Amino acid sequence: MRDPGDELRELEQNGLLRTLRRLDSPQQAKIDLAGTGICLNFSSNDYLGLAHSEELREIYGANVQKYGAGSGASRLVCGTMAQHLELEEALASLKRSEAALSFTSGFATATSVIPALCGRDDIVILDKLCHASLIDGARLSGAVMRVFPHNDVEKLKSHLEWAEKKTGTDGRILVVTESVFSMDGDLAPLQDIAELKSKYGALLLLDEAHAFGVLGPQGRGLAAGMELESQIDFQMGTFSKAVGLSGGYICASRSFVDLLINRARGFIYSTAPAPALAATLREALDLVSGPNGDERRAWLRQRIRQMDEDAESAIIPFIIGENEAALAASESLLEKGFLVPAIRYPTVPRGTARLRVTLSAAHTKENVTALQKALPSA
Ligand SMILES: *Cc1c(COP(=O)(O)O)cnc(C)c1O
Repeated sequence: MRDPGDELRELEQNGLLRTLRRLDSPQQAKIDLAGTGICLNFSSNDYLGLAHSEELREIYGANVQKYGAGSGASRLVCGTMAQHLELEEALASLKRSEAALSFTSGFATATSVIPALCGRDDIVILDKLCHASLIDGARLSGAVMRVFPHNDVEKLKSHLEWAEKKTGTDGRILVVTESVFSMDGDLAPLQDIAELKSKYGALLLLDEAHAFGVLGPQGRGLAAGMELESQIDFQMGTFSKAVGLSGGYICASRSFVDLLINRARGFIYSTAPAPALAATLREALDLVSGPNGDERRAWLRQRIRQMDEDAESAIIPFIIGENEAALAASESLLEKGFLVPAIRYPTVPRGTARLRVTLSAAHTKENVTALQKALPSA
């Protein structure tokens, strides 16, 4: 039998070994990293700086007192509390959708929803750079999979032409893409994709993980920003990034949501999120979509523009190339007091290892200026 030690040594030799870093402070712009000390954090997805905000800490604390710490069962057993339903109603209304369903994480959402919608007789077509959870969801579904090169609408079109001929009258074609791509920070050509999916009678699942709270009016996402919400069959996202908490969601028609309640295994066989969390998420939606969120988005936009005038999101990659070189650049930044992760294969394609800077409304202008001085010059 294989020895795990050998596998770990092999990972290490290839510059691929990952280890956990302990944080001795809350999640915020300045963190206390074990072995390093105080440094500036340019690695979290806490885009609006809400994770450790006064606002959310206060709301969360009060909700634990009011609604309790645990939910006790899965949603279909006896875990559906008023707080879960109220969260889902508020989310559906914010997203201009008929209904919504929440999950314990974005990962659980993707790996539960895609297999609930598609099976052997169906076809799932994904962008090459889709998140691991979407790929795993498609694999788990047992559907025939097709991948198009990143943002290549011509290739998507030819996959759709093929799929339209191949599927029977009952068969589903599901196109899966993201609004902001997590390792490049670029956007999907959503208008073109929405037109194509309609033309070929396919469904579209859009993962707004890095866009919800950040882009569009009220931070409603890229689909809202492009006035395409009504054309997205499944608006997916996470509460773990800009919203500053945790959990995942899908917004869809009432009948699709009812189908998911019956079929999505990560929903059926998993204990419901804590009622205090659901209640806090409900209030966080008001915060994110209201004036407080607008202020935070304006501040974040200033930091993004300061870093890179052409950036389309809060994710700004610096491509280095080889795994070791990216790791060395990241280590050197850490010595100077900046946490900027090196992203390596298999998260990104071989030869495109990079530093990935993520900006937050929690950063000050001075924080970003300091990082710019410390980054390897282009
Ligand atoms: C982070 C992320 C997820 C997973 O969401 P979690 O709530 O962290 O599990 C899914 N899709 C994309 C594109 C992501 O970036």
